[in-house]
Amino acid sequence: APTGLPANEKERENNVAKIKVVVRKRPLNKKEIARKEDDIVTVYDDAYLTVHEPKLKVDLTAYVEKHEFCFDAVLDEHVTNDEVYRATVEPIIPTIFQRTKATCFAYGQTGSGKTYTMQPLPLRAAEDIVRLLHQPIYRNQRFKLWLSFFEIYGGKLFDLLNERKKLCMREDGRQQVCIVGLQEFEVSDVQIVKEYIERGNAARSTGSTGANEESSRSHAILQLAVKKHNEVKEFKRNNDGNDYRIGKVVGKISFIDLAGSERGADTTDNDRQTRIEGAEINKSLLALKECIRALDNDQIHIPFRGSKLTEVLRDSFVGNSRTVMISCISPNAGSCEHTVNTLRYADRVK
Ligand code: ADP
Ligand code: MG
Repeated sequence: APTGLPANEKERENNVAKIKVVVRKRPLNKKEIARKEDDIVTVYDDAYLTVHEPKLKVDLTAYVEKHEFCFDAVLDEHVTNDEVYRATVEPIIPTIFQRTKATCFAYGQTGSGKTYTMQPLPLRAAEDIVRLLHQPIYRNQRFKLWLSFFEIYGGKLFDLLNERKKLCMREDGRQQVCIVGLQEFEVSDVQIVKEYIERGNAARSTGSTGANEESSRSHAILQLAVKKHNEVKEFKRNNDGNDYRIGKVVGKISFIDLAGSERGADTTDNDRQTRIEGAEINKSLLALKECIRALDNDQIHIPFRGSKLTEVLRDSFVGNSRTVMISCISPNAGSCEHTVNTLRYADRVK
């Protein structure tokens, strides 16, 4: 299998776009096929797609409204997770060793494939990072890979690798974000990364209404950080009773499985809690869009204070940053409105 990691990483870094917007279409599922739903999304040419929106005219003759979009890449239903990795995250990995803070988002309605897309990415990324750590240029630098995993639910932070302990965010004098008490784990072996991903996903918000229902209202954030360890040994105690050495972050990549985009519209729901969560999600997705646009325009002022999500990601929106937005869409006619909304959002971000 091709590893694709470049020999000359510096050169590669300069070639990696600062912001990349990719769309991924999932296949029709069994239920949709059983209902004989049409696939209304057509992918052309790796970059173009059309959504054929079925409409009814006044005289009741059906006609179709066409919505056309163009993105950095459009991945159709035949594209594998491995190909998604190569088209999105892989080119960014070497930049993490050059002081870059990268973010990779999965955006889309519930059921469009965000978790399916996001879950394998950190594992593949960790494999590549560990391989780079062992290369001669980095071997003597005392670089180590660290992992943390938390979620934002109703504007509050919870540690997914420490019994959903509630966490607070603090900014230090140098405008670095610090999440107080967040457990971080040093990972030298990739198998353990897989276990953390599974453990964290299992810990995501699950309420009385069922797992997918609840997790669709939270943003899950998995971070892989490359740290440089000093000669001076400083330690921090994790709740597993072990002491871990503290290092200085060289670069990092955050994988963010966003709340279902349709949840942002839950602001008129009968249930008060649902309304509050809907408003929070709406606010965070809008703030995220504004931050990415500001980044794209090289604005000095990034409006990260607009939401908890963007505040937490503050240090990833300044300096050397790379952003990949993977917009996930469902192909069935019944999801048309959400699909067009997702594509419009992605269109504004790019
Ligand atoms: P979301 O996280 O956006 O709510 P999921 O990732 O849970 O959506 O996907 C919904 C369902 O569709 C899951 O059963 C998942 O396995 C399936 N699915 C999503 N994307 C794909 C794909 N590209 N190929 C095959 N199955 C997919
Ligand atoms: Mg999901």
